[in-house]
Amino acid sequence: SEQAYALGIDIGTSGARASAVDRHGNPIGFAAAPFESPAETRQPDAWWTRVRQAVENLNSKVDLTAVRGVAVDGTSGTVLALDSRDRPTGSVLMYNEPCPESEIASRIARHAPAGSTAVGANSGLARAIYLSRGQDAVTAVHQADWILMMLGCPARISDENNALKTGYDLASERWPEWIERAGMDVGALPKVVRAGKKVAPVAGYLRDLGLPKSAFFHAGTTDGCASFLATGASEIGDAVTALGSTIVLKLASARPINAPEFGVYSHRVGKFWLLGGASNSGGNVVRALIGDSKLGELTARTNPEQPLGLNYYPLLRPGERFPFNDPDYQPRLDPRPADDAQFFQAILEGMTEIERLGYRRLEELGAMPLKTLRTVGGGARNPAWTLMRSRALGVEPLTAKSLEAAVGTASLVIAALEQEDA
Ligand code: ADP
Repeated sequence: SEQAYALGIDIGTSGARASAVDRHGNPIGFAAAPFESPAETRQPDAWWTRVRQAVENLNSKVDLTAVRGVAVDGTSGTVLALDSRDRPTGSVLMYNEPCPESEIASRIARHAPAGSTAVGANSGLARAIYLSRGQDAVTAVHQADWILMMLGCPARISDENNALKTGYDLASERWPEWIERAGMDVGALPKVVRAGKKVAPVAGYLRDLGLPKSAFFHAGTTDGCASFLATGASEIGDAVTALGSTIVLKLASARPINAPEFGVYSHRVGKFWLLGGASNSGGNVVRALIGDSKLGELTARTNPEQPLGLNYYPLLRPGERFPFNDPDYQPRLDPRPADDAQFFQAILEGMTEIERLGYRRLEELGAMPLKTLRTVGGGARNPAWTLMRSRALGVEPLTAKSLEAAVGTASLVIAALEQEDA
């Protein structure tokens, strides 16, 4: 059977996944270990149990003895406290749990430079400050950092993608001084390196599992960056739209763009900058106003050849961030046609326009026009919407290579190895 070249591990909101890829980045093996209860989502011990299950299951299917590198991605912004022996204290704040002490966010706001991604109760920095002050806490690390440690990585290492919202400075490539003034002891944070960078020889658990001495731990990334890479997007101008409960645009750019008023910021990923922007519109409106059970039948009755032109702006409540920043932006969902298929079509047309304006916004902010477009998420399955979108955006749709973040994380390892061999 095929030999695995890189191993990617994803720890997400539904469980752990492990993927083996060949030297070209093509997936050759995959295993998943879902959480068995919602509580497990925020339990470090459960993360580790499910990672082991996924990796051991993968190891029973794929020969891992030729693997050259391993990396982990985790949910962006999830932080946990560790004690003096690097064990979790039990305190965790997930990516969607705001810092409970408002004083911490105010102090960050006073010291952060303009446009910092670490501002707000929802930043990784606010969570890290709060957690590093907790009982028995000595350090604070991101979810992916801790899994890398459990796999045997001998140091507390993070990557620029996970560290971005914890306040890491990409220009000077270090933890900036202002975060100390905001209340964060920099010594309590992990050392940060570029995403994908080779870190240390594989040891401990993974060696016991049969990975060779020559294999290395690599710095990982966030679930968001990993999902982009998984699709096969890899060049400047490559875009990925996620049509899930919200519409999320991602575009590989030659230069970084930060526009906090639109929620647009940039991750350094390999040879490009990954820009992202998220609308509040998306499948959440479809699910609430139409319901998922009728979508097939209604889609078949839409007529993309004949746009309704009702100029909808589908939102469940007022307020938009991207492509417009207006906390009072009003939904537009009328007039409502008598036929539900037409109502659905009008919603799809509205969301198509939001996507078009979103990519145009990124261009206005300084990105290059898109060259390619891949689509992921529930809405990618809708052929009528796909047709509307490729017309509006003027880009032929490409098929995503993989939807598994773990595959994207493995591809980061391959890119780092290729650079080294070159
Ligand atoms: P999440 O963001 O929750 O991961 P998914 O990627 O699973 O979302 O996509 C689910 C969303 O996609 C739901 O809001 C659903 O209403 C919407 N959706 C599913 N199928 C279709 C379809 N054929 N056309 C339009 N929207 C769809």
